[in-house]
Amino acid sequence: MRTTFAGKTAVITAAANGIGRASALALAARGADVIATDIDGDGVAALADEQAGITAQRLDVMDSNAIDELVQNNPRIDILVNCAGWVHDGSILDCDEEAWDRSFALNAKAMYRITKAVLPGMLETGTGAIVNIASIVSSEKGAPRRFAYGASKAAIIGMTKSIAADFVQDGIRCNAICPGTVQSPSLEDRLRATGDFDKALAAFQQRQPMGRLGTPEEIAEMVCYLASDMAGFTTGQAFAVDGGWSI
Ligand code: NAD
Repeated sequence: MRTTFAGKTAVITAAANGIGRASALALAARGADVIATDIDGDGVAALADEQAGITAQRLDVMDSNAIDELVQNNPRIDILVNCAGWVHDGSILDCDEEAWDRSFALNAKAMYRITKAVLPGMLETGTGAIVNIASIVSSEKGAPRRFAYGASKAAIIGMTKSIAADFVQDGIRCNAICPGTVQSPSLEDRLRATGDFDKALAAFQQRQPMGRLGTPEEIAEMVCYLASDMAGFTTGQAFAVDGGWSI
């Protein structure tokens, strides 16, 4: 069976960079009409210029009104890829309430908000695939200095399973992907923020048993699979794409 998304509309959050960007390119290359959204409007506009089949839309996933407007303007959404996320660096002792709240607001609540807005349209058509980008650092695995991040990414796995269970008989599938460490602009920022980029990069590479970081494209392949009819019997699962980190 060949994966084709012809006639399908996909909305992706945080599509200007990293995994979201690679997912937008991969879905569009396979024929989807992709609405690439990001708080960085210029970033998604550049992406839309790069490949046919991609429309750019500035969207802050923390903005309920903007989400409602997006859904009103695009009543038929077949695929939703929830990619927006934020890393707080620190243990519980470093995590003040602001960092905790921001982690859950961006990583979990925003996903709840946009999924709740998109689902009624999917239920009307009787079909829909939701792909949530969680992390292997979640309920799957602990990692140093990822307290609020891991907790909020675990919430995504719980949400994924709940949504899958509630709508399993309505043609809606909802799955999560748990990436290991993947090259991206924000990862580079985090490496730079340690004060010793090379040392931090080497440490991140070493914790991946394959000895290298993942690429956004490797995660995008799993996005495409889970969004496609080839995954028609698959829902409510969290898939590790982590270079063996969780073995
Ligand atoms: P990234 O962090 O480099 O880019 C994130 C994008 O999110 C940026 O384009 C940014 O403009 C956008 N963004 C930030 N706040 C936003 C908001 N409020 N509304 C809309 N967009 C917003 O990309 P990445 O590292 O590929 O991360 C993407 C997702 O993958 C995140 O959820 C992240 O937690 C998850 N993830 C990443 C890794 C990794 O190692 N890179 C590992 C596991 C999980």
